[in-house]
Amino acid sequence: MSTNVEPTTNAAGTIPAPATPYQDDIARYWDHEARPVNLRLGDVDGLYHHHYGIGDVDESALGEPGAPDRETRLVAELHRLESAQSDVLLDHLGPIKRGDTLVDAGCGRGGSMVMAHQRFGCTVEGVTLSAKQADFANQRARDLGIDSSVRAQVRNMLAMPFATGQAAGSWNNESSMYVDLHDLFAEHARILTPGGRYVTITGCWNPIYGQPSKWVSQINAHFECNIHSRREYLRAMADNRLVPQAVVDLTPATLPYWELRATSSLVTGIEEAFINSYKDGSFQYVLIAADRV
Ligand code: SAH
Repeated sequence: MSTNVEPTTNAAGTIPAPATPYQDDIARYWDHEARPVNLRLGDVDGLYHHHYGIGDVDESALGEPGAPDRETRLVAELHRLESAQSDVLLDHLGPIKRGDTLVDAGCGRGGSMVMAHQRFGCTVEGVTLSAKQADFANQRARDLGIDSSVRAQVRNMLAMPFATGQAAGSWNNESSMYVDLHDLFAEHARILTPGGRYVTITGCWNPIYGQPSKWVSQINAHFECNIHSRREYLRAMADNRLVPQAVVDLTPATLPYWELRATSSLVTGIEEAFINSYKDGSFQYVLIAADRV
């Protein structure tokens, strides 16, 4: 663990001090992340995601079990479901104009940013702790000729480099489990214009189950994160001028993705924890869209 308090410097920017030792760990985690399950899926069409998929599996797209192209088809299908997840997130941003700015907090390699720009024609600003990810996202934007509209920076999403009220919409796509939710939503409420929309898609533990299950603890250990409860999301939003407009339980919609993924050679070992915790009700995959009032 690093105790370095100097800002991390790189081509895409800096994490302004004081970054916590934990944030240094997370930056390092994502700087070194190169799992085939993420990169091979991104190679399908150049949209690189670090999140999971939703929707029914198209069995006809998978071809015959055991066929030589089965794995290629399976990768393409998993990727289609991951992009479908981003589409559902973007559906909940409401009407966005070309002149608007959107903010992707915890943007990863930028797949959702590209999709947002392609859909709305607007400016999309992303922040990530990982210099590797920011450089990757910016290179993709250059390759696509959209780098004047799509940009990733190495920044802490608890102190984003955007003016008060600058964003028409903002989101966390599977990135809110790395931070304190009160700090996070206070910062989104600051950068969002009143009437702007915030959306998150996240795994959360289910207060009906009682406490985080052993599967949830395994997921936390695997990703070095801290999964919050559904109750905590709603409480932290209420405390920070974010009023839920939609709460959608995506758990049934994400299970087919996990069950398909578990059959692939690209398994990472965490599949069982997701499948078991979704099935025993201790963990949920939710979308929450909220109005900044
Ligand atoms: N939203 C992306 C990436 C999800 S992976 C996608 O859907 O593909 C989690 C991301 O959260 C990583 O990019 C990581 O750098 C980012 N992250 C975690 N803590 C952060 C923080 N405090 N500030 C900025 N980004 C953070």
